[in-house]
Amino acid sequence: MARVALLSVCFLAVAGSPSAASNPGTVENTGQLLHYGDLRSSSPSDRMFIVSAPNGGGYWIATQKGVVSVFGDVGSYGDLSEISLNKPIVGMRSTPSGLGYWLVASDGGIFTFGDAQFFGSTGAMTLNKPIVGMGSTLSGLGYWLVASDGGIFTFGDAQFFGSAPGRNSNSDFIEILTSRVTSGYALVSTAGEVLNFGDMELQGRNSCSLAPVGSASSSAGGVFLLRVNSQPETGSITAKSGPLDSEFIDNLLDHAQQCETDSSDLAGFLSPVADAKITSSFGLRNHPIWKQPLLHGGTDYVSASKSYDGAINAAKTGTVIAVFDFVAYGRTVVLGHGSKLATVYAHLKNSEVSVGEIVEIGQSIGQMGSTGASTGPHLHFEIRVSGLVRNPVPLLAQ
Ligand SMILES: [Zn+2]
Repeated sequence: MARVALLSVCFLAVAGSPSAASNPGTVENTGQLLHYGDLRSSSPSDRMFIVSAPNGGGYWIATQKGVVSVFGDVGSYGDLSEISLNKPIVGMRSTPSGLGYWLVASDGGIFTFGDAQFFGSTGAMTLNKPIVGMGSTLSGLGYWLVASDGGIFTFGDAQFFGSAPGRNSNSDFIEILTSRVTSGYALVSTAGEVLNFGDMELQGRNSCSLAPVGSASSSAGGVFLLRVNSQPETGSITAKSGPLDSEFIDNLLDHAQQCETDSSDLAGFLSPVADAKITSSFGLRNHPIWKQPLLHGGTDYVSASKSYDGAINAAKTGTVIAVFDFVAYGRTVVLGHGSKLATVYAHLKNSEVSVGEIVEIGQSIGQMGSTGASTGPHLHFEIRVSGLVRNPVPLLAQ
């Protein structure tokens, strides 16, 4: 039987990206595939999934809320629009016949439609890491679920060929890829790394891009990587906001510093505040707002002369990696200095630099403020070495 070689599954992830060339829900078609329409009524922050019919005659688009829209000559087999989901949908696959599909939620709950069969789920299990994707077997009589740490769960006739933790990988994974001619699978990390298992032989592309891979799809031995802009959490401030913001910066640096090598030379940092007075040191402390022990990952400064809105200066020459308004960190500038060194300046009143700009040591990057979770105007300053926060004080030039 001749099989038409078509991209069986391609994914489209949209994460509130203001610089996206096209609108969320817009479908781009390549090769001989036809365009059957776009999704018009989607929230820009929704993650979405596009799955083409095995015969290429159409596609489905699912949103993270489980709403499935039908385009072209594919059947409508139902969706989750009537149900309020506890967990977002993170993946979709069609059956080999194209007469049904599965949706999977981040807790590993499986929803079957049309001729898709249920072979089990992780819905009743307590997972350490969320499920981020699913792959179905050639027969359609089984599937794999992959967690963000690259852990694999097998169901039905899906075989276990290995997992990322089994290879001592500690990357964040976003997708599992299968093909129509091989029986293995490949895992794709948010950095674009690809781990092959079984007889899969796909090549990835690790890059130093700030933007993580949000979705991936394989075709003809290669992989399409779709990078998305990531945005920090929004919402009200809680005790978790600070650690979440810190983790976001950690992830950001993970991607931005992908091509850098570690440095043992930690000399040459300058105090970011002239005439500085330390008001809170690095280390475990009782948090002034949350009244519980939390790691204080930086040093807090005011200016001894009480010029609270004074200039905040770059501690080292570098490039502006990010300027964000975080829930807890407030207006924050992150500078990269090469060799996996970075500095973070939080609670700023304003910032005077933009992403990509090169700043000289001692150059003003903004003014001291009290934005985010702050009890009064001060600078929260961090030095991160290979992603980890270090006590800045011993590293500053005397
Ligand atoms: Zn602080």
